[in-house]
Amino acid sequence: MRPITLFAAAATCALAVATMAQVGPVTVTAAATPFTLGKLKLAALRDAANIAPNDAKVFGIDVGPEAVDTVLAAAGVPTGQISLSVSALLVRTPGHVVLIDTGYGAPRGILLASLAEAKVRPDQITDVLISHGHGDHVGGLVSTDGKPVFGNASVRMAAAEWASLQSQPANAKLVAAITAQVRPFEAGAALLPGITAVDLNGHTPGHSGYRVESNGKRLLVIGDMAHSYIVSLAKPDWAMGYDRDRKLGAERRRTVLGQLADSGDLVFSPHFPYPGTGHVVRIGDGFAWKPGMA
Ligand SMILES: [Zn+2]
Repeated sequence: MRPITLFAAAATCALAVATMAQVGPVTVTAAATPFTLGKLKLAALRDAANIAPNDAKVFGIDVGPEAVDTVLAAAGVPTGQISLSVSALLVRTPGHVVLIDTGYGAPRGILLASLAEAKVRPDQITDVLISHGHGDHVGGLVSTDGKPVFGNASVRMAAAEWASLQSQPANAKLVAAITAQVRPFEAGAALLPGITAVDLNGHTPGHSGYRVESNGKRLLVIGDMAHSYIVSLAKPDWAMGYDRDRKLGAERRRTVLGQLADSGDLVFSPHFPYPGTGHVVRIGDGFAWKPGMA
């Protein structure tokens, strides 16, 4: 998800908002939802929530908003809008306190308040794993005064993503703040005992998922491989406006969702309804979301 696009879309739809769905940021309260994976303790951390307009600019841009509304109506949710959470995942492994993505961070996000709910201080985080360089995933790395928030942590992301992030002038403040912490990795690298990067290139050049394994249990953090638990799963082949490579993004979505449905692995999605954990199941020619924590 790209917050600037969302804000712009919300602004251009201001007139429609008065009569239709309320779109834009949604106020949320701090939350840390604990769960276990094998022998590991994890927690989903809430950062923010948004309602995106169904305006043909993001979801189903190749099929149009009426087709998207048909899918929303079939799922029994309001049409004209797509609800998206923004969450991060805390993983405690022996010797490491790992944060996967950082949300928007302050002032828009409340990640640190949710981290406090999990009884973790920012200086206790040893590793931050980044799915990709969009503001709703990396914004929390930097404080409002430009300082690193997780000062004792290694910040890990795919080398292609770090190169892409550095190449964009809008990221200059972020890059300056975190450069000393960043340790890029090659796609698919094993990063920590029980945590492996998974190449999910498509949404962005170095977009990475993360596989967490313990005692025979597996979880995949999917990053922005899918955004809407309804539309992205029911219609994985539809073009997603946020994907840098829309063809590859759609191919990746169908392939990985199929793998998740077949394996039954637990899934964590930053943008599915908080806490963002559950399973992917097949339904018709597409997929559906079964929320759950085990
Ligand atoms: Zn996103």
